[in-house]
Amino acid sequence: KAKEAGKNNCQFYAKGMSASAVNFLLLENDLRRGIEQDQLILHYQPQIDLASGALTGVEALVRWQHPERGLVSPAHFIPLAEETGLIVPLGEWVLKAACQQQKSWIDAGLNVPQMAVNLSTRQFRQRDFPGKVASVLRETGLPAQYLELEITESCAMEHASETINQLNQLNQMGLQLSIDDFGTGYSSLAYLKRFPIDKLKIDSSFIHDLPLDQNDAAIAKSIIGLAHNMQLTVVAEGVEQEHQVKWLCEQGCDQAQGFYYAKPMAAAQFVSHFTARGEFDFGGNVVSLQDF
Ligand code: C2E
Ligand code: MG
Ligand code: MG
Ligand code: MG
Repeated sequence: KAKEAGKNNCQFYAKGMSASAVNFLLLENDLRRGIEQDQLILHYQPQIDLASGALTGVEALVRWQHPERGLVSPAHFIPLAEETGLIVPLGEWVLKAACQQQKSWIDAGLNVPQMAVNLSTRQFRQRDFPGKVASVLRETGLPAQYLELEITESCAMEHASETINQLNQLNQMGLQLSIDDFGTGYSSLAYLKRFPIDKLKIDSSFIHDLPLDQNDAAIAKSIIGLAHNMQLTVVAEGVEQEHQVKWLCEQGCDQAQGFYYAKPMAAAQFVSHFTARGEFDFGGNVVSLQDF
């Protein structure tokens, strides 16, 4: 629009806008085009059963293969996508791509028990969201029990009574539900007990300094206890060190996810690892990053 109004206007427009606002506009157009032109890709990070080392599932994490900027992390474009509403088509792309991938792994005989997909608040709040998920499952042919949806604790608690409604519908479809970044939001336990969820994911900020930091240790222990008392599975996020694994095992934490086991990987990388080992077995906690 500034261009149509002539050169002087254009300059005025540019001067009147902060550099970050210009950058924001450029990025928004880029992202819109990126979604249309299939520049998004998913990486997959394994989730591991702490007691046996077995693979319990993978989490799909989106990346943007930008033609000039290279591989862009979701931290740089998810907030923008949230603000502009682009998160809705982006989220739909992610959900469909993840379900297609999981279906083709199952068809190929790869035993990936579950595919976890992150939801944004806007996406989850859409009235017809459960219906959209049902369509994707139908179109891709993926049985619901293979799909897990993650919503953050702050998203879940924001409009808690609506959350219960949405979660009930999704739960009735037979898929798994988890609360991401648990411990960072403001949980009402009265609501938490009414959510038909399966899993709590302890936020990585409480895992980072384990087991030395007494406060983090107390918080992690409390979340593990809370989850188990509510018959929920508990997952530690951001596990990087062997001593964290050992401590989490001792505390009875069920599952872990983090660089200690593997960074998020492209599908082909994930499969070649699978093929090399013959099975997804991270037993003995000896898998190093070089293996990937
Ligand atoms: P999240 O869902 O909590 O995902 C975990 C993040 O921690 C991922 O970052 C993952 O790569 C990183 N991570 C895993 N293990 C370790 C570790 O041992 N150490 C450290 N330092 N980091 C670890 P990533 O992929 O950059 O994603 C960041 C966030 O972006 C995600 O946090 C999620 O909130 C959001 N996100 C990613 N993909 C999607 C998506 O498809 N849709 C939506 N709505 N959000 C997404
Ligand atoms: Mg997540
Ligand atoms: Mg259920
Ligand atoms: Mg998280």
